[in-house]
Amino acid sequence: MKKTYILLIISLFFALNSSAQRQVSIRKFMDTSSVEFQSIYKLWQDYQNDLFSNDFKETNHDLQKYWYKGDIEKYGSEFDLYKGAIGSYYIFGEFFIGINKRNDTLFEIQTSYYNNRSETYELFYVINIPVIKVNNEYKLSNMFSLKKKDFLKETIGFVDFYYLPNTKLDLKNAKQMVEKCKKVYNDFGFETKDTIDYYIFENQTICNESFGIKVALGDYCDPTKKMMNGRAVNSKLLLYTIGGEKYTHEFLHILCKKIRDNDDYRFFDEGVCSYFGDHQGLDYNAQKSKLIDFLNLNPKVDLSISLTDAYKDKDNKFVSDSNLIEDRKISKALISKEDQTAYSYMIMATICEIAFKQGGYNKVKQMIIDSKDGEEFYDTVDKHLGIKRKDVNNYIRLFLNKD
Ligand SMILES: [Zn+2]
Repeated sequence: MKKTYILLIISLFFALNSSAQRQVSIRKFMDTSSVEFQSIYKLWQDYQNDLFSNDFKETNHDLQKYWYKGDIEKYGSEFDLYKGAIGSYYIFGEFFIGINKRNDTLFEIQTSYYNNRSETYELFYVINIPVIKVNNEYKLSNMFSLKKKDFLKETIGFVDFYYLPNTKLDLKNAKQMVEKCKKVYNDFGFETKDTIDYYIFENQTICNESFGIKVALGDYCDPTKKMMNGRAVNSKLLLYTIGGEKYTHEFLHILCKKIRDNDDYRFFDEGVCSYFGDHQGLDYNAQKSKLIDFLNLNPKVDLSISLTDAYKDKDNKFVSDSNLIEDRKISKALISKEDQTAYSYMIMATICEIAFKQGGYNKVKQMIIDSKDGEEFYDTVDKHLGIKRKDVNNYIRLFLNKD
């Protein structure tokens, strides 16, 4: 739900680092001479180097050679749950902490990632990765695979809810949510045959720990209220913090993947999930009236320039045209700092409503399949909704204010 901030930082790093090599150092007093250390360290570095270069080349090598077979079978193509949960960790500077032996066949790496562009030290992630020794070979595994046995399970319809013993799952809400999901799936012409694993956590920190993530961006960042978060890690696995059993947003991400018939993600999906589901705990109509207020308060947001980003001027108002502000470097996603509402999501949701009113589920479906990210999304809007880029700003503002 709140991954926009993190994605923003990550894409910034990609832009800056596209010609660079990975930066890695090892903790000084570590004994690195043993065969165990060298084999495990090499496995982990080879894997990340592969990920790093494949990201830039946009190729897809056989990365499965690094992973424990059981994990690949369990999680399919998205077997690296660290990547699913925290994104492209390997693009940052790595400070390798060390390796512990747990038993004859189980080892555990601990490593950390920091901002290698910052003058002051900025720690981003600390993660623990189990390593399993099979047939004299070392293989990486997900911490989640080892922790899974601690969870209790409750099946409602096509959803298996998992939760730790001290987490109070609201079954009534969960039931209603599953029914709502089923209806949206059916309306789009899909059955709900495949079981989805839904993990609910007391808070983000406990969620991270279950994945072997000790420190992460997006945690310990708001002392004013209890943070809620959710994420579709892959097409079988969903996470939410407690209270999330009411919300369908992350489930609908899986539906978007089904409609597209692959595991890709497009930013328009956020609109579909917020229109047919919810965003930050509020349904579309409640968020829509906030978007109307937001756009009216920020008349210099020009949706024909960008649907997702804007600059902030010195009065803290959003401005789309970079020529109108002095410091052109500050680009911000359209996110309210007060309550984390991503207005960019709600703009996409409005486009989803326009599509739905024009041509029902079928038109929305075609747009999901066809949608591109960035500037190219204007072509999708033009092709499917008949709105030219230069008219998008007026069209959306009029559409929102008409009732
Ligand atoms: Zn989302």
